[in-house]
Amino acid sequence: MPRWVDTKNWDGGLSQRQWDSVVRQAKAMLDSWIELRENDFRGIVYHSSLDDDLKQALYRINLRHAWWERVDDEAHRMARRIIKHLHKRNRFPNPMRCRTMSMDGKIAQIQPSNGGEYYYWARISTLEKGHPLYAPILIHSDLEPHLNPDDPQRLANHLQLRVNEDDTIVARLMTTMESVKPRDTGEAIGLDWGLKSLFATSDGRLYGLELFAWLQKRDMELTALTRELAHSHVSYKQSKRYRNLNRRIREYVRNETNRVLNLIADDRLREIVVEDLDFRHGGLSKQMNRILTRAGRATVRYKLQRLSQTKGIAITHVNPAYTSLECGSCGWASSKNRPNRNLFRCECCGYTLNADIAAARTIRARRSRPESWRRIGRTIILSQLRKEHAQRCPDGKRCPSRRKEYGSPTSAKAKANTETRVKNKRQS
Ligand SMILES: [Zn+2]
Repeated sequence: MPRWVDTKNWDGGLSQRQWDSVVRQAKAMLDSWIELRENDFRGIVYHSSLDDDLKQALYRINLRHAWWERVDDEAHRMARRIIKHLHKRNRFPNPMRCRTMSMDGKIAQIQPSNGGEYYYWARISTLEKGHPLYAPILIHSDLEPHLNPDDPQRLANHLQLRVNEDDTIVARLMTTMESVKPRDTGEAIGLDWGLKSLFATSDGRLYGLELFAWLQKRDMELTALTRELAHSHVSYKQSKRYRNLNRRIREYVRNETNRVLNLIADDRLREIVVEDLDFRHGGLSKQMNRILTRAGRATVRYKLQRLSQTKGIAITHVNPAYTSLECGSCGWASSKNRPNRNLFRCECCGYTLNADIAAARTIRARRSRPESWRRIGRTIILSQLRKEHAQRCPDGKRCPSRRKEYGSPTSAKAKANTETRVKNKRQS
């Protein structure tokens, strides 16, 4: 569907500007339908038992939204079947049933008033040329802070009207968030998030050390409570105590995360490098991990997004494979580099550091890896790291990579064995 449609010869009594607005809204409805179906489609293919080649072909069709393309091969036939099924469950949006009208600056302008009872007026163009309608606007207290010139969220020249079932009309002002220009000076830091220290930075800072102790206490309460509830056959949802405890944990994690990230994101910073990872951590119950993963992941993701929007700090994601086991000095990656949870000591070169800070450094170093690294699997990453290490190992003769247990770094069989061993080690 084109972005702009020439409507000079259309009837309906609307001007080109008004038609533009209508077309834009209709296009937005259709675009959102297409976007949702693209997600559904990808999900169906991903969870299917189709073979990999066919899956890849379907992903490509899906990316182009070419679901109905008349090509007679297996992938296209399959694509048509999937989209037919999805369309049956989700019909195209019907603009006739639409009760909201989104009026952009072309047909409705928000103008500050020159004193008087109202702060703002909406100037809405009508079907009668040259006779706009002025509607007074009261500012809701929720909107008030965003009228401050320092707030990144601003009033947009955009009015949304909704006609309710009982024919009353509600108007809404829209705000926009202006994205700040990315910073062009400053440092890049790597950020590792665990729980023992909520955040570790590549320049050697540890934050939120108390959080883990606090969580351990709450975890004991949580475990006791769930046992009690299971005993008396009360579901978690029904228990007010459970809900309150849950909320307390989530709020605490959220506040701590925000507080620490605000401290880290100071004026000297240009870029934060993080890994695509969740909060899961040893030493806490399954229940607790579930709450933390949900609360932590969402908070961190949202906060980082805000930092990039409001402060112009770039956020770079890197592949998390082996970041906690790779040596920042010689590149040797092995579970034996971690004699215990807090310590990193390289088996090959002896480089020793706090484990979380070491991971943050490795994360920072990964930003210079090619973009394709983000999507490759753990096995390939390990064999790549082993190959690089073999080339620059400081002491080839005594290097652990020479040991029989690791095999030669290029032998595929040995690689697979190491992978299993590392996996087992991580689980134990
Ligand atoms: Zn090393």
